[in-house]
Amino acid sequence: MYKHDVIVVGAGGAGLRAAIAAHEEGADVALVSKLHPVRSHTGAAEGGINAALHPEDSWELHAYDTMKGSDYLGDAPAIDTFAKQAPEEVIQIEHWGMPFSREEDGTVSQRPFGGMSHPRTTYAGAETGHHLLHTMYEQVVKRGIEVYEEWYVTRLAVTDHDNPGDRECYGAVGYDIKTGEIDGFYASDGVVLATGGNGQAFDHTTNAIANTGDGQAMAYRAGAPVEDMEFVQFHPTTLPSTGVLISEGVRGEGGILYNSDEERFMFEYGYANNDGELASRDVVSRAELTEVNEGRGINDEYVDLDMRHLGEERILDRLENILHLAEDFEGVDGLDEPMPVKPGQHYQMGGIEVDENGQTCIDGLYAAGECACVSMHGANRLGGNALPELLVFGSRAGQHAAGGDLGEPEIPTGPGAQSEDGDVDLPVEPGTIGDGSDPVLADGGAVASPEQLLETAVENERERVETLLERDGVNHAEVRERVQKTMTENVNVFREESNIKEALRDIREAREQYQHVGVSDSSRTYNTDLIHTIETRHVIDNAEAIAIGALAREEFRGAHWRQQYQERRDEEWLKHTMLAWNDGSPKLYYKPVILEGHEKTYEPKVRSY
Ligand SMILES: Cc1cc2nc3c(=O)[nH]c(=O)nc-3n(C[C@H](O)[C@H](O)[C@H](O)COP(=O)(O)OP(=O)(O)OC[C@H]3O[C@@H](n4cnc5c(N)ncnc54)[C@H](O)[C@@H]3O)c2cc1C
Repeated sequence: MYKHDVIVVGAGGAGLRAAIAAHEEGADVALVSKLHPVRSHTGAAEGGINAALHPEDSWELHAYDTMKGSDYLGDAPAIDTFAKQAPEEVIQIEHWGMPFSREEDGTVSQRPFGGMSHPRTTYAGAETGHHLLHTMYEQVVKRGIEVYEEWYVTRLAVTDHDNPGDRECYGAVGYDIKTGEIDGFYASDGVVLATGGNGQAFDHTTNAIANTGDGQAMAYRAGAPVEDMEFVQFHPTTLPSTGVLISEGVRGEGGILYNSDEERFMFEYGYANNDGELASRDVVSRAELTEVNEGRGINDEYVDLDMRHLGEERILDRLENILHLAEDFEGVDGLDEPMPVKPGQHYQMGGIEVDENGQTCIDGLYAAGECACVSMHGANRLGGNALPELLVFGSRAGQHAAGGDLGEPEIPTGPGAQSEDGDVDLPVEPGTIGDGSDPVLADGGAVASPEQLLETAVENERERVETLLERDGVNHAEVRERVQKTMTENVNVFREESNIKEALRDIREAREQYQHVGVSDSSRTYNTDLIHTIETRHVIDNAEAIAIGALAREEFRGAHWRQQYQERRDEEWLKHTMLAWNDGSPKLYYKPVILEGHEKTYEPKVRSY
């Protein structure tokens, strides 16, 4: 058993920031990550980090843009905390050596981004995330923070009190990918989940193969509710053949979208008469798909993104990476021709319910970064807001887990925050198949000591892994593909009731198949077959939660569009969708959105760009 004060699971942007903050608070902290830290998906972030740094900008404006972008589903205390703290976080990483792009006078450059009323996106070329990871990893190494890399965390050690609000988390169980060893990571002060997004629930995604929603599924199964999972961001500019992202930075620099008639459709058809290509992502994605559906798409599939008019010098200075991506993945030279683009899954706005200090309703369990929902992105995240979010709330989660005093949170979590029960007409039974027992929870209520609880969880995990290794069954890839395909076909940008129900039926069948999944590779060294098999159950849990939320929410808000309900319905739906895993099946309920901020109360308005 490995013992520390704070265990941070995941070493992407959120995990690294949390670990540094916990260390600064005086804790003995360790990072446990299935990937080497600098291979985390934060490294793929291209466009930038928003912060109100310019004298003519302000945190209030940034907060307002974020609330409007969220389609008024963000919680004001989270948004205000975020917008106030983002500048100091950006200055902090600058001091740690982040190589930001700069103006002639040496100030950090800031470019316009979708939905922002001021150019406030700082960046390092088109490789912002890569530099961010390296800058923070350097700080982790400098501080001597222990990193257990290529350790895959498979379950949490949480007590099993009936009320999740009474539960405690004492650590996590890890599988050493290099050796096959299974052991416990004991945390005396707290576990911070920073495991990233769940894009692998879809088959056309900008997310890496490792983004399987592990943290969301583990926390959910341990009793921490997941929030607003139906809000999935589809980015408007992904390469059609692979899903690789073409950064919003291209449109920020002046890139233009054209349909097959060479019309600048964002203006031509009135999708966003003011902001055009730089309208919020949900708006641009719907516009592109409408063009395709109305016969003005190219090859019935995509539209063109043209940056040739920006000129070679500017492109090479600010967007060179984009040229390589278009050339390598699509065979297109962005200096000479437009690049094909279409919407693809990109970001999960929902996630593990936390407060402004990163705490879930389970004592000692925290979450930060894309796996968490604080909630500041609400129904739609603005580009460039995820990286500052992981800095602000990663830092707060690490600090709080290590005993730092951040004051009482204003955002309630857990069953006590419920305002009403949910009711949804599901076509099939959701949740676990079989006896309903949940392998994440150990026999917590009765155990003699936290260490013993963790030992029990380790033993349970060893048994599960042995069973998977011994069983000759269905390959995980078959199950995962079934889920990904149905999610992309049926729970995409445009959503219809019958399609979402079809997806839920497919997911149920995938769960049935998963009962018979087996691992053909029996080795203990780098057994990716085993890792992907365990991940696939997380993919199923995430997909199901997204689809249930999508079916329940009968309105059009932000990234969530429903054919039968094409308008935002504040009277009924200004509330967060919550799913709690009770005895192996999801319970749906709602909690109110908080619009009362630090300085003012936000008034929901029509969202136009
Ligand atoms: C292509 C792309 C470009 C983007 N560009 C921008 C941008 O320009 N600006 C912006 O604000 N946002 C951007 N985003 C969004 C943003 O980059 C992500 O939301 C953010 O980086 C996620 O960081 P994270 O630390 O939460 O997760 P990640 O960086 O994905 O890190 C997750 C970590 O968890 C570990 N992990 C996962 N599961 C386990 C497990 N079971 N056990 C152990 N370890 C585990 C992984 O090894 C990894 O270290 C972009 C996203 C994508 C996909």
